[in-house]
Amino acid sequence: MIHKYKQLGLNIVMDVYSGAVHVVDDVMYDMLDYINEPFQVSETCPYEVVKPLKNKYGYDEIEESYKEICGLYENGQLFTDDCYKDIAQNWNKQSVVKALCLHVAHDCNLRCKYCFADTGEFHGGRSLMSSETGKKAIDFVIANSGNRHNIEIDYFGGEPLMNFEVVKEITEYAKEQGKLHNKNFRFTITTNGILLNDEIKSYINENMSNVVLSIDGTKETNDRMRYRVDGSGSYDTIVPKFQDLAESRNQDNYYVRGTFTAHNVDFAKDVIHLADLGFKQTSVEPVVAPETEDYALTSKHIDTVLKEYDKLTEEYVKRYGEGKGFNFFHFMVDLDQGPCAVKRLSGCGAGHEYLAVTPEGDIYPCHQFVGNTDFKMGNVYDGTIDNEIKTHFERSNVYTKEKCKSCFAKFYCSGGCSANAFNFNGDINKPYELACEFEKKRLECSIAIEAHKKLSK
Ligand code: SF4
Ligand code: SF4
Repeated sequence: MIHKYKQLGLNIVMDVYSGAVHVVDDVMYDMLDYINEPFQVSETCPYEVVKPLKNKYGYDEIEESYKEICGLYENGQLFTDDCYKDIAQNWNKQSVVKALCLHVAHDCNLRCKYCFADTGEFHGGRSLMSSETGKKAIDFVIANSGNRHNIEIDYFGGEPLMNFEVVKEITEYAKEQGKLHNKNFRFTITTNGILLNDEIKSYINENMSNVVLSIDGTKETNDRMRYRVDGSGSYDTIVPKFQDLAESRNQDNYYVRGTFTAHNVDFAKDVIHLADLGFKQTSVEPVVAPETEDYALTSKHIDTVLKEYDKLTEEYVKRYGEGKGFNFFHFMVDLDQGPCAVKRLSGCGAGHEYLAVTPEGDIYPCHQFVGNTDFKMGNVYDGTIDNEIKTHFERSNVYTKEKCKSCFAKFYCSGGCSANAFNFNGDINKPYELACEFEKKRLECSIAIEAHKKLSK
């Protein structure tokens, strides 16, 4: 399977199964429209391929391009067979738990309009995790992580800084237990920044391998959606704190993360604004919300959003060329190595490798499922998890999803977000269409950026 498109003035051809990416000339780019799979090498370019091209290109060019295509095919870089199908058919994944998302606070000091966490309540009452529950969660992950050495703990909310003493207690306990059980814990915290101070910053810098800082972009964009109980915006409070934290981490191992909505479909300007504030690690993602919300993105926004990704791509390479580059999380793609086959097929691991734990110790497939009791998998106090739910998630991969089978993005996207699929289509194996459109575009942009960088070296 191949996928071809034009971006940044380049003709790009992806060979889906080998992962090879080619930047080709116009003759080859056009020729590929007339070659069907499975490809068969012939001595000279077949007449049905020559015919539609002969008025535009000379014979020699056509023959030369055809020979190049044959060469790439013979080298396993074009029209390659699906080598992943067998892995998927014999899929018998026996996973261990590698990561926990600890909801240390189902409470928040902001009232963001789009909050999927129901402004920190997750549709239950407001509550904070006790250190006892947090420690039980650490015991749980140690007991369920098999021989795995590295374990990730994400402190999440609501707003985790509202329960920071407990965050510290859990962290110290995990480090202590890690030594006893030969586990290396790595911590990440996601915060809205309101409560950040020097003491918290120092602790985070000493202990957290990553920090996610929530901000949506310009003051206007941010404060329209991210405000306090009294309606006042958060931008002026958080920007200096985030800038300070990012600098104190040498502009690495953090990212500022925002959400764009129907109110700022022109979100490229928000990403650029974050870069202009000095942030080198950025991420801005489309909101996921029911169409009934005034800020929801719907199919009528697709064209504009795709054009915004184009705009961002242009600016991204321009800044990179001027030595003022920054990273945009969704444009980061590794064309040389990429993740292993299993990861490419099954994605984030929600429900089996990655689990979320509520303040009460209840276990869910991921933070997005928290509060949907049909997906409650157990509790850290009894230490067991529902194997039926676990297996359901474990079995899910790009080959169990009809829509993904024919999608060129499948080995980068890995089948999309299970929670979005369930919430929009009632089935974790039926991807959420709008997210697919954006995902495919982002992949095209990121591959074009990498190709552009390589060519300009
Ligand atoms: S900061 Fe996060 S948890 Fe709090 S209201 Fe905003 S989106 Fe929800
Ligand atoms: S973009 Fe959509 S269809 Fe394509 S692999 Fe991802 S989830 Fe599947």
